[in-house]
Amino acid sequence: MVLEFYKPTSITEAIALKNKLGSEALYLAGGTEVNNLFFPVKPKYLISLEGIGLKAIEETDEAIHFGANVLLQDLLENNLTPDFLKVAIKRLVNKNIRNMATLGGHVASNKSCSDIIPTLIACKAALEVVTENETKSILLKDYVTHEKTDLITKIIISKKVLNRTVVSNNYCRSANDVSILNVAISYVKEGANIREPIVVVGGVAKHVICLTAVEEALDGKEMPVREDLEKLVSDNVSPITDIRGTAAFKKYEVGVLAASLLFNN
Ligand SMILES: Cc1cc2nc3c(=O)[nH]c(=O)nc-3n(C[C@H](O)[C@H](O)[C@H](O)COP(=O)(O)OP(=O)(O)OC[C@H]3O[C@@H](n4cnc5c(N)ncnc54)[C@H](O)[C@@H]3O)c2cc1C
Repeated sequence: MVLEFYKPTSITEAIALKNKLGSEALYLAGGTEVNNLFFPVKPKYLISLEGIGLKAIEETDEAIHFGANVLLQDLLENNLTPDFLKVAIKRLVNKNIRNMATLGGHVASNKSCSDIIPTLIACKAALEVVTENETKSILLKDYVTHEKTDLITKIIISKKVLNRTVVSNNYCRSANDVSILNVAISYVKEGANIREPIVVVGGVAKHVICLTAVEEALDGKEMPVREDLEKLVSDNVSPITDIRGTAAFKKYEVGVLAASLLFNN
């Protein structure tokens, strides 16, 4: 049961509260996870992020900066949001949830089946994370591999990635379900070949992962035939059987999704 609810009005105050209250305190953004009946953590204290700002989407010469408290629906409706990111955000169920859920809350939830994290990793997104002592930048690809509770203040996409092709795909049981599998791939086109591919998959491990071996096999090389590409991807994932599907099905389907992205774009 939540015993106390805090409403800080600055980033500094929010962090100081989190440090004081410790592991029994959670930040609260849109609350679509925290207020969910099945949310595994039962915090004693909630620290609302509503009053600390971080709702702007801004650009500099080098990058686009998304405040952590920007709503997913606002991202969809903003001209600075790259189209490839809008495609991923649209997969997230419906407008009702997108009008509550924040980008920071989505990233911090760090779900394996996230519809957005694979595309963000494929475009080399970085996070600005603030602690009492420092503000640091961390690649999202590295963030997802660790359990972290530091305050995310921004999600940053460098404009250098805008010259890459970024595509994504998912497998969903029905239009209203959370995805079972997600794939996002980015690359630089070079004739019939691709360079510097980033291949990211969700739903096949505890968190979203990059398939480094697949990336190395594709980089600057002649594109394998479709069946070989499907197998290459399938051979590089080790999903588990659970309520969402068998390991064999996920292994097979993730290969099909990845190949369809490279052969149809
Ligand atoms: C009905 C429903 C359907 C959904 N469908 C989909 C779907 O189709 N696809 C999909 O990918 N996801 C789906 N989700 C998940 C949804 O995307 C996430 O729940 C949402 O994006 C989380 O954002 P939030 O702002 O609501 O986070 P909150 O619930 O407020 O917080 C989630 C976690 O993040 C932490 N947190 C929040 N903000 C920050 C911050 N700035 N820094 C550090 N930690 C922070 C909180 O402490 C908490 O641990 C669904 C959720 C629901 C309830």
